[in-house]
Amino acid sequence: MNMTLRYILAVFGAVITIHYVLSFTHTEYGRATSLSHLTSHFTGVNQPDITPIPDRYFPPFSNDTLSVDRRANATFVILARNSDIDGTVRSIREIEDRFNRRFRYPYVLLNEEPFSDDFKKRVSVLSAAKMEFGTIPKEHWYQPSSIDEGKAEAGRNSMVEQGIIYGGSVSYRNMCRFNSGFFFRHPLMEKYRWYWRIEPDVHFHCDIKFDPFIFMEENNKIYAFTIAMYEFEKTIPTLWGHVKEFIKLHPQYLAKDNAMGFLSETGGDTYNLCHFWSNFEIADMSFWRGEAYTKFFEYLDQQGGFYYERWGDAPVHSIAAALFAPSNQIQFFDQIGYEHNPYTHCPRDENTWKDEKCTCDPKRNFDYDGYSCMSKWDRLL
Ligand code: GDP
Ligand code: MN
Repeated sequence: MNMTLRYILAVFGAVITIHYVLSFTHTEYGRATSLSHLTSHFTGVNQPDITPIPDRYFPPFSNDTLSVDRRANATFVILARNSDIDGTVRSIREIEDRFNRRFRYPYVLLNEEPFSDDFKKRVSVLSAAKMEFGTIPKEHWYQPSSIDEGKAEAGRNSMVEQGIIYGGSVSYRNMCRFNSGFFFRHPLMEKYRWYWRIEPDVHFHCDIKFDPFIFMEENNKIYAFTIAMYEFEKTIPTLWGHVKEFIKLHPQYLAKDNAMGFLSETGGDTYNLCHFWSNFEIADMSFWRGEAYTKFFEYLDQQGGFYYERWGDAPVHSIAAALFAPSNQIQFFDQIGYEHNPYTHCPRDENTWKDEKCTCDPKRNFDYDGYSCMSKWDRLL
């Protein structure tokens, strides 16, 4: 054997030895390099709903800010009370660190009462982007006079007796109705097409170095989610019946290739309670402002179920997006690690998880939890 060959064999032997030693002594190393891991990862990225975001949506940065000003007509929107200040500060700090210090999208904060000076002061220091603080017009928030308060009170009392979360709360109902039909009509929101909804005390677990708004705009998406789950049936006992009535009255709004298969196992006869968890939303307000959704919300609002029952904005938004848009206009963002207590979406694609320095535990990913509707979404694709 000549010297070169002997040298190559020696190096090869050393590498193999080190690999085995590391595999046994460092479980993380062993897991990351095992054949089953490498193949599971490979099949993972081939699932249609976690297809990687193409490189062109990752803009160049210099000194950590966008070097090309190519942004969408988009804003963050945060509904909060003055008492939500600490959680609001924490959520903004996280989205700034993970995404917006680079992209500098503006913020609109909304409240049915004027924000306090202290609230505005503490929020304003968190971002270099524009921040606007708005008060919600009374007619967009409070229970309308068309609601029979006696009937509404009876509904609340019965929900309290049944132990339904927020069952007795009128303000929660105001919030759900506002998020269903009014936030996109607020004067501060009118100038924008796209929004990203954020709540106090949520977590963004991974760096987000692509622009989800531009991605959605260029790919003709109208709605994006990270978590899908079942609604509490007792909060919406008559909702699906009204949805069916509405469709009978306006069949023209039902989109071809809609996502009815996500909502129903019976071709639309019954609702399986699946919805996108709307505390995270990135969406196109021209969809909410359009004819189908405007008519849909008006129709539902006339039935009074926001107050007689406790209809959430999550099923209302989700049912509309699923039925009045083709399913390929709805986007699942595997890439966005997101947590709203008690559930977390942690990226399934291990490259994302690693490259974007995610803080979430992949074992706690909600996607295939028994309470998640992700498998219904996969079934559509
Ligand atoms: P949950 O996520 O369904 O448990 O509901 P939250 O309590 O988190 O409320 C949803 C969103 O609405 C959050 O952004 C809250 O800050 C906001 N919110 C809830 N109730 C009110 C309210 O009475 N006034 C205002 N201004 N915001 C509210
Ligand atoms: Mn919440």
